[in-house]
Amino acid sequence: MTTFKADLHCHTYFSDGTDSPEELIVLAKKNGLSALSITDHDTISAYAEAIPAAKKNGIILGAGAEFSSSYDGLNVHILAYDFDLESPLIHAFCQKHKERRKLRNYRILEKLKKRQMPIPEEELEKMGTETLGRPHIAELLVKHRFVTSVQQAFDLYIGDGKICYDAGEPFTVDETLDLIHSARGKAFLAHPHFLGEGEKVFKLLEKPFDGIECLYANCLPQQEKRWIKAAERRGLLISGGSDYHGTLKPMLTLGCSFVNEETFYKIFQHAIH
Ligand code: AMP
Ligand code: ZN
Ligand code: FE
Ligand code: FE
Repeated sequence: MTTFKADLHCHTYFSDGTDSPEELIVLAKKNGLSALSITDHDTISAYAEAIPAAKKNGIILGAGAEFSSSYDGLNVHILAYDFDLESPLIHAFCQKHKERRKLRNYRILEKLKKRQMPIPEEELEKMGTETLGRPHIAELLVKHRFVTSVQQAFDLYIGDGKICYDAGEPFTVDETLDLIHSARGKAFLAHPHFLGEGEKVFKLLEKPFDGIECLYANCLPQQEKRWIKAAERRGLLISGGSDYHGTLKPMLTLGCSFVNEETFYKIFQHAIH
């Protein structure tokens, strides 16, 4: 008998991953996973292809997405799980994110142009069909030799608060939680490890989250344990996943972080078999 493992955080080329949905499913099978939730940034477009591919390969799918939001100056990623993939509310929300990003990317490109780093908007648009953002801009900065690495692009220019950064007009955490709940979903605070352990994060957790992503990528067990305790104290669910992005983040392998069967079914009452 194989142990049930579910990776609840990964990306396809519909956001900033490099695999197609089918490639991701095939890789999940190869890496010994039983279930997967694909959590592209601000889009659920992967599911049209992922659902038949998962059925064909015997992988159980849980509906997922990773929504960008803002709280008191923090960029907060919220994982939405088990929502209704047909929900018009979710579809409209993803569409609004696409428009928000277009405007925001334009503002970042304008700032880069002012600093003698012009990147044509059309070039960015060719990088994908759904969610485009800073990781794509960073790749283009490398391609144009304005920087030597994606990391340098963030460190010098487009990372939070850097000289060519622009927050755009983000959705708030409250709006995002409401939307997820109206579409029957559960909302998890993604990778809280990135937000530090200041007062602000604990204030944030007073909002109606359903869970915390305690198990994450290559996080150390001690760090994970602290977030598990934080979840248990609040009666919140626990999730976990690799944040696999394909070759964009080569140090993360699909399934390097996962949850067990019991945890999977606590989150996914509407798993797709
Ligand atoms: P966006 O959604 O367009 O704001 O881009 C956010 C993504 O950019 C995150 O999910 C990370 O993958 C990446 N990112 C943000 N800040 C950094 C940073 N300082 N260094 C490397 N990658 C970053
Ligand atoms: Zn990403
Ligand atoms: Fe994230
Ligand atoms: Fe992610």
